[in-house]
Amino acid sequence: MSDAFLPSADSTYRTPDAQGFFGPYGGSFVPETVVPALRELEQAWKEAQTDELFIDEFEGLLADYVGRPTPLWEAKRLAEAVGLGRVLLKREDLTHTGAHKINNTLGQCLLARRMGKGRVIAETGAGQHGVATATAAALLGLECAVFMGTEDIRRQALNVYKMKLLGAEVVPVDDGTGTLADAVSAALRHWVERVRDTFYVIGSALGPHPYPTLVRAFQSVIGSETIAQLENRSIGKVDAVVACVGGGSNAIGTFYPFLTSLSAEERPMLVGAEAAGEGIETARHGASLAKGSPGVMHGFYSYLLQDEGGNPMEAYSISAGLDYPGIGPEHSHLHDAGLVRYMPVTDAEALEAFALLSHTEGIIPAIESSHALALLPRLAKELGPEATVVVTVSGRGDKDMDIVREAGLAR
Ligand SMILES: *Cc1c(COP(=O)(O)O)cnc(C)c1O
Repeated sequence: MSDAFLPSADSTYRTPDAQGFFGPYGGSFVPETVVPALRELEQAWKEAQTDELFIDEFEGLLADYVGRPTPLWEAKRLAEAVGLGRVLLKREDLTHTGAHKINNTLGQCLLARRMGKGRVIAETGAGQHGVATATAAALLGLECAVFMGTEDIRRQALNVYKMKLLGAEVVPVDDGTGTLADAVSAALRHWVERVRDTFYVIGSALGPHPYPTLVRAFQSVIGSETIAQLENRSIGKVDAVVACVGGGSNAIGTFYPFLTSLSAEERPMLVGAEAAGEGIETARHGASLAKGSPGVMHGFYSYLLQDEGGNPMEAYSISAGLDYPGIGPEHSHLHDAGLVRYMPVTDAEALEAFALLSHTEGIIPAIESSHALALLPRLAKELGPEATVVVTVSGRGDKDMDIVREAGLAR
């Protein structure tokens, strides 16, 4: 088994337990009817992980279809602008489809095919995960249905069109507010009915066990490549590694190999950027760790934004990928354990970083990724002008052009 797929765990850092708990977080809080499907998935995943054919096929697709390894770009002009010694950008924006999500959807669709399921379903809010799932399904010849709230369908016409072009069926969900949470519930209900021939592709490192672990494994290629690229260039100790956190898949994919293959002394500070929206002192943000409390949502226990009655609250962020009211369970654990630091970043700070990367490096990042980039000036103050920082650029900014035009970002 190659390192790119599953990093070797040489430390005491071994999570989750057999029931999918990362400390107190995670687990599987689902209706009885879903339990057999999750057991079947767990078993299939256990077998696939050690199956050379499966691993070879996944790695082959990552290389020749996704375009991996993605470069680790030294951003010299950006480093100078923010006052750091070195800044290295892990370029997930250069993958096929333009974001890290494809690593995960290809992995899960391969697993679906291995399990003999001819059909995958997904749910999507802004449409990015829907497009990534439809892409992988098209490639592997799987039928694909994407559940999407009617309000989101209206707002995300371009992604809806892309999914249809890729051969997916977009299933409108008219319940509730017609947004992501309603689409999740509809997809789960549908899965229960069609579990025999249908695989549920989850879009981030969350959901009931074993999804968080599965998604982590598929996304860990980000961190494993980064470590190898740093070694190849004889870049010694890195001071910090930063990634944005929505559900937490690009962040855990970046951090996990650093957590497992480096000792505490060698390990850089790991930093996650949460969406602070209009400010964590307002009601309009997506900062589940800074402002949330533990509870159960969408089948797992984790920090989430909830009202006094324990109902999930609506999250807000200028970036569609970060406006989820919860966070993957492993991040809750890493937060409480003090292994990763999570810092809130506002819309305004993210937009500033978006513009800065664009005109210092000629790289237009996704607004999600801009949240991670926005922490560079803060880290420079803390770590000093000699420090080296790695940032995962989770995706490219083409999809965000309307938003930044509205914000009047160009000079
Ligand atoms: C979806 C998305 C995110 C947020 O998802 P995670 O699971 O937290 O990684 C971040 N960046 C981009 C570009 C995305 O499309």
